[in-house]
Amino acid sequence: MDADNVASSRTIDGNGGVLDGIRETDHGLARAAIHSRSAAHLVYRRGAHRRCARRTTMANNLMLLSNSFSHGLGPLEHAMDALAEVFAGGHQVLFVGYAGSNPDAYTEATRSVLASLGLAVTGAHRTPDPRVAITQADAVFVGGGNAFRLLHAVQRNGLLTAIRDRVRAGMPYVGVSAGANLACPTIRTTNDMPIVEPETLAALALIPFQINPHYPTAHPQDGHLIETRDQRLTEFLEENDVPVLGLCDGSWLRVSGSRAELGGTSNGRLFYRGHRPRDIEPGDDLTQLLHTSPTYDSPLTYAACWHANS
Ligand code: ASP
Repeated sequence: MDADNVASSRTIDGNGGVLDGIRETDHGLARAAIHSRSAAHLVYRRGAHRRCARRTTMANNLMLLSNSFSHGLGPLEHAMDALAEVFAGGHQVLFVGYAGSNPDAYTEATRSVLASLGLAVTGAHRTPDPRVAITQADAVFVGGGNAFRLLHAVQRNGLLTAIRDRVRAGMPYVGVSAGANLACPTIRTTNDMPIVEPETLAALALIPFQINPHYPTAHPQDGHLIETRDQRLTEFLEENDVPVLGLCDGSWLRVSGSRAELGGTSNGRLFYRGHRPRDIEPGDDLTQLLHTSPTYDSPLTYAACWHANS
């Protein structure tokens, strides 16, 4: 990553500007029109855009991690202090393990890790009705695996809406990798293959921007990895005017009250349409990202965004 990308001031403006002067951008409807393919589409998008732009996040206790396993450490060991803070005051955690191929084993592993924080874990897939189970839990933990499989499952069993309602009302949400993808307005910035076909790519919209987990760290041998990942994220930005937060393994996004910051021990990278990516460090204040007005090209995504905020 370029040394000259490193910010001198570490506060990031949510509409793509960095408060130390890198950029300021507008989010007008003119930009939406550039990508619209028909007049009807444009009208639809105009209305939806306005609704998205009014969005304020009500999810105020989130931890979105890139990974569970850090080199030489046990599962989630790198993040236990922060997890204790997120789950403080609660006891029952609903674990959503549909992204993985073996939800039973994944639930068990999570149960033994979270037991050390005094938490009791129930696997959503083992409950008679996960929509009821979420109403009885104090917190939700969404594990990693394949983001398409996860979204497909929670769309079908009604958990998508149920989780959104609870978390927007203040329930703590922890998402690892695919679970972090699910917290975004869409899962379009997952690294996964679409091994199943969800109804739409619209997800929880707990935050108004996108996350790309497992963003490559800047070791010399990672040069090619970074190049290809950046190329894919640039393609996303060609179609969608939405910031993307690349989380390197070891890092997480923490939203606590009205504040957001990068946590952990690794860097992240922020991508904005038309601008050079920007490296960020643990402790950087990302609060302004919560005030982003996302502009997606797809009417389906807009519909979900509208629904999520109505
Ligand atoms: N497959 C990842 C995971 O571990 C998600 C991603 O890379 O987008 O959940």
